[in-house]
Amino acid sequence: MKLDIVIWPDPVLTDGTAPITEVDDDLRQVVGEMRRVLFEERGVGLAAPQVGIARRLMLVCPSGDPGDEVVVLNPEILSVEGSETGEEGCLSFPSIYGKVPRAVTIRVRYQDLDLRERELELSGWVARIFQHELDHLNGEVFIDKMTPESREKVEDQIEDLREQDRRRSAESTA
Ligand code: ZN
Repeated sequence: MKLDIVIWPDPVLTDGTAPITEVDDDLRQVVGEMRRVLFEERGVGLAAPQVGIARRLMLVCPSGDPGDEVVVLNPEILSVEGSETGEEGCLSFPSIYGKVPRAVTIRVRYQDLDLRERELELSGWVARIFQHELDHLNGEVFIDKMTPESREKVEDQIEDLREQDRRRSAESTA
């Protein structure tokens, strides 16, 4: 199994995902591939739809260092507190960055790779990553949450991605 980063506007990024009820060898392989892709691309988080897998699975790694990543299954946000705007990027939107408002502190529940239930309170950078990745599982992408000022600045780049996608699908049907 070899998985690669999916670039927006691939529909797998916006179609939503199914919960995980069983951790089998296939799923473990997906997690392994996601780890590889995350560190090759030097990311701090990665959601399964970003490698073409429509399941509720994501990696969070605020330090960006291999081995620090947390494997998160079936996450949910139980409560939120505060709001702050900060800069974000996304591996599915190459070279696009913008400011996104997020909750400062979140209480989350998820399952680990052994399907053990975990509950955590996260704040700041790690909370921001968690919210960004969880959005991916719900078919939401960060360009739709950017401040209007940021969104306007990246509108041309977004149009370029749409154009590249049109060209790709024209080639594949040629
Ligand atoms: Zn992303």
